[in-house]
Amino acid sequence: MAELTPMMKQYKSIKKKYQDSILFYRLGDFYEMFFEDAEIAARILDLALTARNKGGGEKAAMAGVPYHSADTYIAKLIKNGYKVAICEQIEDPDEASGIVERDVIRVITPGTVIENDMLEDKNNNFLAAAVYYEDTIGFSYIDISTGDFYVTELFKTQSSKLWDEIDRIRPAEIIVEEDLADGEFLNNYQQVNKILINKREIFNLKKSYEILQKHFKIQSLIGFGIEDMPAAIAAAGEILHFINNTQKRSLKHLDKISLYTLNNYMVLDTATRKNLELTSTIRSHRKNGSLLDVLDKTVTSMGGRLIRKWINQPLINKEEIDRRLEAVEELKDNFIFLQKLRDALDGVYDLERILTKVTYGSANARDLTALRYSLTKLPFIFEALSLFEDSHLLSGLCDEIDTLDDLGELLTKALVEEPPTTVREGGIIEKGFNEELDQLRTMCGEGKDWITNLQKSERERTGISSLKVGFNKVFGYYLEVTKANLDKVPDDYTRKQTLANSERYITPELKEKEAMILGAEDKINDLEYRLFVSVRDKVADNIQRIKKSAGIIATADVLSSFALSAIENDYVSPIINDSNEINIEQGRHPVVEKMLNENFVPNDTILDNEENRFLIITGPNMSGKSTYMRQVALIVLMAQIGSFVPASKAVIGLVDRIFTRVGASDDLTTGQSTFMVEMNEVANIVNNASQKSLIILDEVGRGTSTYDGLSIAWAVSQYINDPREIGARSLFATHYHELTRLEEEFNGIKNYSVLVEEDNSGVHFLHKIVQGKANESYGIEVARLAGLPDELINNARQILKQLEQNDNEIKEVAVSGEDLTETNLNKENMVISNNTVQEIDRKQLSLFESNKLICEKIKEKEIINLTPLEALNFLYELQQEV
Ligand code: ADP
Repeated sequence: MAELTPMMKQYKSIKKKYQDSILFYRLGDFYEMFFEDAEIAARILDLALTARNKGGGEKAAMAGVPYHSADTYIAKLIKNGYKVAICEQIEDPDEASGIVERDVIRVITPGTVIENDMLEDKNNNFLAAAVYYEDTIGFSYIDISTGDFYVTELFKTQSSKLWDEIDRIRPAEIIVEEDLADGEFLNNYQQVNKILINKREIFNLKKSYEILQKHFKIQSLIGFGIEDMPAAIAAAGEILHFINNTQKRSLKHLDKISLYTLNNYMVLDTATRKNLELTSTIRSHRKNGSLLDVLDKTVTSMGGRLIRKWINQPLINKEEIDRRLEAVEELKDNFIFLQKLRDALDGVYDLERILTKVTYGSANARDLTALRYSLTKLPFIFEALSLFEDSHLLSGLCDEIDTLDDLGELLTKALVEEPPTTVREGGIIEKGFNEELDQLRTMCGEGKDWITNLQKSERERTGISSLKVGFNKVFGYYLEVTKANLDKVPDDYTRKQTLANSERYITPELKEKEAMILGAEDKINDLEYRLFVSVRDKVADNIQRIKKSAGIIATADVLSSFALSAIENDYVSPIINDSNEINIEQGRHPVVEKMLNENFVPNDTILDNEENRFLIITGPNMSGKSTYMRQVALIVLMAQIGSFVPASKAVIGLVDRIFTRVGASDDLTTGQSTFMVEMNEVANIVNNASQKSLIILDEVGRGTSTYDGLSIAWAVSQYINDPREIGARSLFATHYHELTRLEEEFNGIKNYSVLVEEDNSGVHFLHKIVQGKANESYGIEVARLAGLPDELINNARQILKQLEQNDNEIKEVAVSGEDLTETNLNKENMVISNNTVQEIDRKQLSLFESNKLICEKIKEKEIINLTPLEALNFLYELQQEV
């Protein structure tokens, strides 16, 4: 094998350790990439691919980026799912004998990015881990930029809960067991959400325990409540191990793990979070048009992240919810105080992220002045919070906030008003902070004054009125005389440089002063840097206190955001209780009402666990069924996050889970059929719902043939309504009018419909929900409203008439209740009384069959390969069968 150059040898030995990363190898002012890395980078970053001699006459592919603008390139690679290992020179080139020693100082991965411009302000960036211990899954996640670190455990049999958690958190990166990494869920999820998947590395529980012990400097994990939770320990250990390996330093601000159980919060599955458009809309995946968009009036990034978290994690404990509601009420009722609080919060920088940079030692003086500015706001926040006396939550925040006066004072004294972003070139430390620095600066200043005066005195002494004193980096200070005046140059001048029109000189005295000034400047820069680092370390020592205040700021921000949306949107405080009732008067959909303003029609809702448990809603398309059902779910959710709600009155008996099954959109990303997706969602509901749940069903069974679908819808309704099975409060919008018969057959089921007004000009949807079933299907009217041609509409009316006549001939399909509850939704076993299928009009059935046959024939034909004549014959053949 040809001999490699020493540099290539070094490169290869480092790269070997970072196979799965793109290696940024520092060469002068550039980071260079070689071989395959260079090819990937050239493609993604649009860089020119060159070649470098690697020894033995061979060339290596190479691409580079300037180190000062590396961040944007790194961000792009990370977004594309790569890891980037930063390899720097780790010894002073002047002191190196041979090739300068280099090593990787950090690996940047999607889940461990901390650079502001690679992150979205109001989004957390999470790294998660899911690992097994016997029959338990340990799940842990962390945002290393803010230090939030959580862990929980669940049984392997509850894997759907794990998917829901992953979807709630939306980590950028995850560490998992081998079979999870190769499993269907994560692979599908990766396609949609570009998550980076790493396989688990440590399998030894003892080692995980030690990693945690060492990091938190503790004897046991009892304090975190996870001492006896091996799966949780394994997951958290896996995360810390990954961080140690990639960040190459211990992160002080990761100072605790919070144990949470999945039962503290309302569990929202993926479909529900999506269907209710909590933080982004289904269509555009944007925040705009979501519930978050309506409620988020936060003024800080910390508040922005917290409100998102609250929306995704409604509470299920009455006391906790009431504490929030009480706070919102007081804020809402005292608008001037509320305004004062918001003014105080406004402009507070992202403290959590500044703290991370402090811990990393990458915070510059600008970061610290941003912190200083934020600290000046704390007394005002404290003052504003102290105005609220009734709410326990607000007074608690007020009692706990640390205004960090000592730290603020230190930063004011230490740092100038507007420091530069560089930390080694001086200009950072304020006058009066350090005596030695002040002395050096005076010396330097005096030297500079002397030089400024020199121009005047030398002009007088030599009589050269155009004589100038100047400075450049190569020659230092000089005296410049134009060619015309050369005869007047005194003897003590020594010539240093000749230019086209002038000569430059120095004098011994000038050199002496110069040495003094430059020496002092070097010392100043050095000293300023040391002072700055000591101030930064002091800040690092106070991380706990700053974090606590940051948390208070976030909470105050979210609560005042709720209060402001309540005022602006005319919301009321819900009454929370432990009953099974939901009683909403004049409820509105928080997002749709924003679009329609006063045209939105409010509606009442009564749900309980007796007479009004399962509401079947019929009515034409576009009349407002979905809006109504989602509005009920959103009002419940808003109430349980502690927000006021869009209604004139709302009594909410706590809900443990909200389930939705909405619309029939093909899940193309996972390649599942509409019907399969629908049935998966239904199965999730019937398997997990309890009597305390709220279920929203918007059409069930549409993805299959009519009778199939109707039977399933019927059986599902009956099962959910039956208190012996589930008995959950539910709303079910359907096109199957046959289902309205359920009301007569089962206790708890009630029919509702959307009011429609008909006059000469056609039908008008009043969007009003009333008791009783809808009479007709107004599909054709909707088609007319949509602008289909009159001729087509008339034809449709004729067809409808005919079909209805046929339909009347179909004998009733009656389903026996007892039998169905036994069947557990198993279609094969479903007993339909009196063999009613046989009684279905045979004419219809045979029409259906022959249509199916024709369709199949068309589908199978390779039309593209037919000659025109063959096509004609085929058409004729089909005609014979109609
Ligand atoms: P459906 O589910 O019956 O097909 P949607 O709930 O999708 O109907 O509502 C269709 C449209 O009707 C909505 O986009 C909205 O513009 C309007 N709409 C729905 N509910 C109301 C309401 N309560 N007041 C006013 N307009 C409404």
